[in-house]
Amino acid sequence: MIEIENISKWYGSFQVLTDCSTRVAKGEVVVVCGPSGSGKSTLIKCVNGLEPIQKGRIIVNGTSVGDAKTDLPRLRAHVGMVFQHFELFPHMSIARNLTIAQEKVLGRGKDEAYEKGIALLDRVGLKAHADKFPGQLSGGQQQRVAIARALAMDPICMLFDEPTSALDPEMINEVLDVMVELASEGMTMMVVTHEMGFARKVANRVIFMDAGAIVEDAPKEEFFGQPRSERAQTFLSKIL
Ligand code: ADP
Ligand code: MG
Repeated sequence: MIEIENISKWYGSFQVLTDCSTRVAKGEVVVVCGPSGSGKSTLIKCVNGLEPIQKGRIIVNGTSVGDAKTDLPRLRAHVGMVFQHFELFPHMSIARNLTIAQEKVLGRGKDEAYEKGIALLDRVGLKAHADKFPGQLSGGQQQRVAIARALAMDPICMLFDEPTSALDPEMINEVLDVMVELASEGMTMMVVTHEMGFARKVANRVIFMDAGAIVEDAPKEEFFGQPRSERAQTFLSKIL
């Protein structure tokens, strides 16, 4: 589903990614971890073309992201992205947050978009909040809305960038539970997170990044059993 082939990226003269390669198969859940500043967010953003790369290529569901012929907005519409800060539209109701892109990007009718939005809100346990505004919801609830909003676009895969790291501890699990459920339903997911409990439970593979490089890319059993690199070992010993 996602093929990342020997990509390198620079911000100006600063090389942020160095020859990164990995693939995520359909239905696979890959957790990306590593120290702050190691390039995790950049890697994720490159996958849906939010950031251009200067070397290598990324193919999502058969479409080359960097290709000039690629309809990037269209591709992006079907790659769900959930950020650390929920980035809901603050001046729109929760229901409208869920319907606007369905109507404007996918061309769905109002009723169809609304029905789909409400069904997804129900799924994340927030149907009763449809008419509220984002500011009236807790952080955990807003993040669940953000996930529902991404799902409303019928994504072929989902990218998460530290979806729980801005949340109060008691709200982390309500968001992780939704993600665990998604994973169990076969959603292809690339998840930047330091929630190693989540990784142990649902990841197929764990990628460890350091200084812009993929230092480790291993099945979860292997990664948690005995990471090969010293850097990954040190990282794990600090966060576990
Ligand atoms: P992570 O998500 O692992 O913390 P990032 O991908 O956010 O890492 O950042 C990797 C490196 O690139 C950091 O050194 C960061 O300061 C730098 N960086 C991130 N975004 C930009 C940008 N837009 N312009 C310049 N440097 C950036
Ligand atoms: Mg980041």
